[in-house]
Amino acid sequence: MTDLSAPDVRDDLVTASHILVQKNILDGFGHVSARDPDNPDTFLLSRNLAPGLVQREDIMRLDFDGNDVEDSGRRSFLERFIHASIYRHRPDVNAVVHSHTASVLPFSITKAATLEPVMHMSGFLGPEIPVYEVRDHGHEGCDMLIRNSTMGDELARSLGQEAVVLMRGHGMTVVAADVRLAVFRAIYTEVNARVQAAASSMGAYVALTPEEARAADETNSGQNRRAWALWEKEVARAP
Ligand code: MN
Repeated sequence: MTDLSAPDVRDDLVTASHILVQKNILDGFGHVSARDPDNPDTFLLSRNLAPGLVQREDIMRLDFDGNDVEDSGRRSFLERFIHASIYRHRPDVNAVVHSHTASVLPFSITKAATLEPVMHMSGFLGPEIPVYEVRDHGHEGCDMLIRNSTMGDELARSLGQEAVVLMRGHGMTVVAADVRLAVFRAIYTEVNARVQAAASSMGAYVALTPEEARAADETNSGQNRRAWALWEKEVARAP
């Protein structure tokens, strides 16, 4: 049954796409999806389109094999399997952001550092953020994209129960219980990456302990409404 007091998930997806572009998480590429609350074994994702251009009518409904349930004839993203596999593997996840965010990417390729929570806004980051490596799964020489269910399932297994998985030389995928929290997490994964890189350029630094991260996450997960209200207004004002 649809909860009429809940935000409309299609409207939230449009707003989320625009916020994530404005915050430099997405550019011409990347996407955000939501599990369909009315048909939880399907999910909502825009047609193949730059995220800044997404409008409500661009949203398609796909099954966990990446098929267009409504047979709309529109072209979907090649990497829809990222979303499909994660919804299949993680019943607690209702929103997924996939991006190629430049400040996060270095942590997917360096051997010298691992991304970790260094500030209170990113306590949702686990102490050991997984990195999905295509070569570990026999995909030598591939184009790095998650283009089928096999690779989607590998990525979902790498993610495990975490909120974020990095993808070597490609980007990141962020999950949450709803679209607004997924946007918050994507934005603060990016901020954390910048802060950590800045601190490590000065020398040794101190990260959050797992206990501090958990406590901060508990506080912030209930607070993201305030940030969403601001970000929503910012994109409404944007030309
Ligand atoms: Mn990608």
